[in-house]
Amino acid sequence: MDDHRTDSAGKQGSLVKCTSDWCIFFRDAPVKKERGMRLKEQMARLIELQKMESAAGRIQAKKKDLPVLMKTLEEEVNSFSAVVDTEREQLESLRKRRREKDAQLLAGQEALKRTRERLFEVKTNKEYQAMLKEIETFEAKNSRLEDEMISLLDDLDHLETALKTGEGELEAHRRRYEEEKARLEAELNSLAGELNVCVRRGSELKKEIPAEILRKYEQIKSAGRGVAVVAVWKEICDGCHMSIPPQLYNELQKSILLTTCPNCNRIIYWENRNG
Ligand SMILES: [Zn+2]
Repeated sequence: MDDHRTDSAGKQGSLVKCTSDWCIFFRDAPVKKERGMRLKEQMARLIELQKMESAAGRIQAKKKDLPVLMKTLEEEVNSFSAVVDTEREQLESLRKRRREKDAQLLAGQEALKRTRERLFEVKTNKEYQAMLKEIETFEAKNSRLEDEMISLLDDLDHLETALKTGEGELEAHRRRYEEEKARLEAELNSLAGELNVCVRRGSELKKEIPAEILRKYEQIKSAGRGVAVVAVWKEICDGCHMSIPPQLYNELQKSILLTTCPNCNRIIYWENRNG
């Protein structure tokens, strides 16, 4: 079929005629109205087939992307939740230390009280001095415990506030995630429906397109990275973004004949983008 193509310069009239009147490379022959209509219909089917297949490709890519996005959002919530869990554990361990410190302080105060009571029972000055020393030690120890307790209560206060904020943020984050997940799932569902429509319409069209044209379409498609039919506007081919010769562009606007881009060999059609 290669002898059907335009030459590299895309010169008009340099094409070899194809004897099949439905062939997209059938050119230069006197076009009867009826045959012209048939070619026009075939071109319209090819354009629609390309649109369906391109849309199906985009939908499939999106269908692949959405679960990845969902997973990313889920991981974000999970790592946020892990941070809050860590804060909660820290708070628990601080509370435990507070209870221990409380008990130590209580015991210290009890010991101090008992020692002070025994102070009145001592007989000798030596014993009295020793007891005063003991009281001093207890007082110093208790005072240290009290300082530690103040700092501990301060830490507890900060952590409780941080945890409360974190829990609130996590809750909001989780709510947003659930909403987003529901939205993405709905989108996935509707994409599946849209894909179904495209695939069904694509196979319908394929049945209506002559096998020879379809074979050529597939050939050009695999050579043209999945795209066989492209629009041309203001002399620029949508497939390769190169200019096509002005003469070819003029003919493309008037003609119902099917042709290919001299640069990328894709099937081209004129698309009026004014308004
Ligand atoms: Zn091109």
